[in-house]
Order: sequence, then C-alpha cells, then structure tokens
Amino acid sequence: MSVTPRASAASTPADVDFPRALFAELEAWSRESHPFEACGLLFGRRATGRIEVVAVRRYPNVAGERARDRFEIAPRDLMAADREACALGLGLVGTWHSHPDHPATPSAHDRAAAWPDGLLAIVSVSASGNAELLVFQDSGERALAACDRDSPAVR
Ligand SMILES: [Zn+2]
Repeated sequence: MSVTPRASAASTPADVDFPRALFAELEAWSRESHPFEACGLLFGRRATGRIEVVAVRRYPNVAGERARDRFEIAPRDLMAADREACALGLGLVGTWHSHPDHPATPSAHDRAAAWPDGLLAIVSVSASGNAELLVFQDSGERALAACDRDSPAVR
C-alpha cells in the first residue's frame, strides 16, 4: 500500500466508535461481492485512546484470481481516498474487507498487511444470509467492536 495513516505514538488498543449505519453499508457491499471479497477504507478521526469511524468507502478488489480470499486496493484509489478524506476534514483510520463464507477473524495475511495502529474491519457474509462485523486494531487479537443482526449495539 502506498498510503498509510500516520501511526500514533501509543500502540494500546483504542476505543472504537463504529456506527451501526456504516455496518449496514459494509454488509450490503459484502453481499453484492459474494463470493469474492469486497474491500475499502474507513474514514474517521483519531483522538487519544479513541478512533471514531465516520464514513466508509468501497473500492474495487484488484487481487485478481486471489479475490476470493484476498483483497487489494489499487494505489490510485488509495491516493484518491486520502485526498477525499482530507477534503472532508477526516483521516484514513483503517481498512475493511469481507470474508465470504468464513468467520470475521483476521487471516495471517490480514495481520501482516494491517496498518500500524489502523483499524482492520472484517465482515463475514455467508450465502445463507448471515453477516457479522468484527473490528480489530493493527494486528491485535481481540475484537474492539462487533456488530451483527441479532445484537445491533456496537461496543
Ligand atoms: Zn481477510
């Protein structure tokens, strides 16, 4: 990736504010892309110990023949996203992607590719219609926020 958010000094997990309405957007995009991974970026704000996700954007997955279990955002989309977030007074606070028919837990590849201190949001979608969102920070083990249809509250 050619655009990475500025890493903050602290690497302790942040409180994450992820509005339910944004989960609905990610869920719809993830279903549309099934059985391929959908992907995009999280726009938001950082404060001490806190990351607020304000908007989500979807970009084409350019992982080619690996698009069923990998995602890749084109450098030109990353640069356009950086400009758009900046114009909105926001920053890029992380990435999101879907796991078609797999749990919303980060793969080894996801962890290796995670942005330093950035959020890693994963939406699990199955052909049967279930969807779940888990939000991790960096390569953290513990989900900081979660959302699904049965428990609409985030955090
Ligand atoms: Zn993944």
